[in-house]
Amino acid sequence: MLAFDSHVHTRFSDGTIFYNGIADLKELQLKHGFDAFTITDHNTTKGLRYTRRACEQLGIPFIPGVEISTKEGHVAAYGVERWDHPAYRLPLVEALELLMEQNAVIVPAHPFDGRMGIGNLIFEPAIKRMIHGFEIFNGASPRQNLRCTRKAGNLPGELAMYAGSDCHSKVMFYRYHVELDCNSTKVDDILEAMRDTTKVKPVGSLLEILRWIGDYVPAEIGRRKLKRARKGVEVPELFS
Ligand SMILES: [Zn+2]
Ligand SMILES: [Zn+2]
Repeated sequence: MLAFDSHVHTRFSDGTIFYNGIADLKELQLKHGFDAFTITDHNTTKGLRYTRRACEQLGIPFIPGVEISTKEGHVAAYGVERWDHPAYRLPLVEALELLMEQNAVIVPAHPFDGRMGIGNLIFEPAIKRMIHGFEIFNGASPRQNLRCTRKAGNLPGELAMYAGSDCHSKVMFYRYHVELDCNSTKVDDILEAMRDTTKVKPVGSLLEILRWIGDYVPAEIGRRKLKRARKGVEVPELFS
């Protein structure tokens, strides 16, 4: 069994993880004891090389990921090495086709989070054929979790159900995560298991909403403060 947070933002988009370099990853690993690590920065893969090397140093399998802003909403994808299309320019279908060319594992993020989710499109046969799962639990959007559970709770079997923290800081990391039925630490095997509806288990509960009220808002204020304070400050490089 491999446990990991499937939705993580870092300093390479609008998050703060890696502000302290590899120390951040070490701290998170010590605290949560996950078996693999991925990042899903917004519309960029520029953090992949950096994160891959950090994971190599700690001996943790690294799953390359990205979160793409399509015209119809956000989509997380794994196994993607390069993505540099600007946000909100590509229609969903076009983005999915490009991801399929890269043989990506495709998981619409927070589908029922209002304007940022692709919503009922996950039920469209043409779309459903191109995706592997959907995010039933998202750490940044309790409302979507309620709506998604209600609307898409009957999709299991057809699509894998994912849970990710959507953290933009260390505080929220791992709030939701997945357990993957996979005994290998090879990335190709992990990606293969991620496509299998029977092998992905979302971990977390709707009651997270209570913790969300206590943690998310302060974490978000803290992140904004930190980002402002860091503006213009050179971030120390992880590797020299
Ligand atoms: Zn998103
Ligand atoms: Zn996100």
